[in-house]
Amino acid sequence: MIPYGRQSIEESDIAAVVATLHSDWLTQGPRVAAFEAAVAGWCGARYAYAVHCATSALHIACLALGLGPGKRLWTTPNTFVASANCGRYCGAQVDFVDIDPRSYCLSADALEIKLVVAAAAGALPDVLVGVDFAGQPCDWQRIADLCRRYGVRIIDDASHALGATYRERPVGCGDWADITVFSFHPVKILTSAEGGMALTNDPAIAARLEMLRNHGVVRSPERLEFPAEGAWYYEQQALGFNYRMSDVHAALGCSQMQRLPAFLQRRRALARRYDELLREFPVQRPWQDAAAQSSFHLYPILLADSRERRAVFDAMRADDIGVQVHYIPVHLQPDYRRLGFASGDFPTAEAYYQRTLTLPLHAGLSDAEQDYVVASLARALSVKSVRPSRAA
Ligand SMILES: *Cc1c(COP(=O)(O)O)cnc(C)c1O
Repeated sequence: MIPYGRQSIEESDIAAVVATLHSDWLTQGPRVAAFEAAVAGWCGARYAYAVHCATSALHIACLALGLGPGKRLWTTPNTFVASANCGRYCGAQVDFVDIDPRSYCLSADALEIKLVVAAAAGALPDVLVGVDFAGQPCDWQRIADLCRRYGVRIIDDASHALGATYRERPVGCGDWADITVFSFHPVKILTSAEGGMALTNDPAIAARLEMLRNHGVVRSPERLEFPAEGAWYYEQQALGFNYRMSDVHAALGCSQMQRLPAFLQRRRALARRYDELLREFPVQRPWQDAAAQSSFHLYPILLADSRERRAVFDAMRADDIGVQVHYIPVHLQPDYRRLGFASGDFPTAEAYYQRTLTLPLHAGLSDAEQDYVVASLARALSVKSVRPSRAA
């Protein structure tokens, strides 16, 4: 099977993990700090906190921004369920903003309209979670301007977008979002097996993130509420969690960070190659914002007709190609329908879902495998005149 996404592990990655197993630290230690410094350094962010997955990073990000019962979180329906669930973990109400038909990210136009209506009704959201879908950054300047005008805090769920840039600045730099979250799940841009990170430039938010990932416990003397009773002393100042990343995972993350430029280069080269190979196909290729550079976590195409999607998917799976569909709109999940959402609520996301198909794209994909994917798609679509591949 040629999977849609896959980790790339080399001997250097394995050696880094083995060296950690021989070291004094297995749980959060020096390699977690090094991984945080590497990601913060890449992004140009002041603070970064590693946790055991992006879902837990989203959870503490929501809490750090004050989300709780009686508050509201808005996000995009075209995402993994975690971008919405994080609001519900806090007891907040979750709602969605329809997507942009070009970028498939949360639409700034739809956001503006919904904010005007919500302001009139006294029901503005507290937190907006934008998702840089497939690695393509959201229209952050417009979204941030709107959120500032209405007093909405921003989380960038950049689980797909480590290494992407927007207006010449790295995603995660904090110019637009209060907190940026990355995922290091094996299908993402780089992996720590399981892992996530939350980045911010705000020292007060940073202190909350750091505390919440570790049981709400505080040790540093300047943050204590009571005088320290001795060197052993610590305080639980909020109800936090054990969301710590281990040093074993961080060692893999550190080693993978060194390979990030190569990962991005290969993903972008493969995406350009798909663009070229699919030029004559009756499919819509991913749109690229001229002001941004995608990290190409995914390569989603739109088929001309939603009725052919299932047959194309099944035919390519029969050819042992791990095509996928990203995403079933979150509001159509049974658990969200029970909250009152229904089909027709976010028509652009729903229409996109009907026609989308994710082709394999990952740093370890070879040109020959990509040619095989394209040939399989050609057969499934009965495309007659496939241009010969340059790599053949
Ligand atoms: C993968 C993903 C997550 C969750 O990441 P984990 O590290 O598996 O918790 C959240 N949001 C988006 C958009 C994702 O793609």
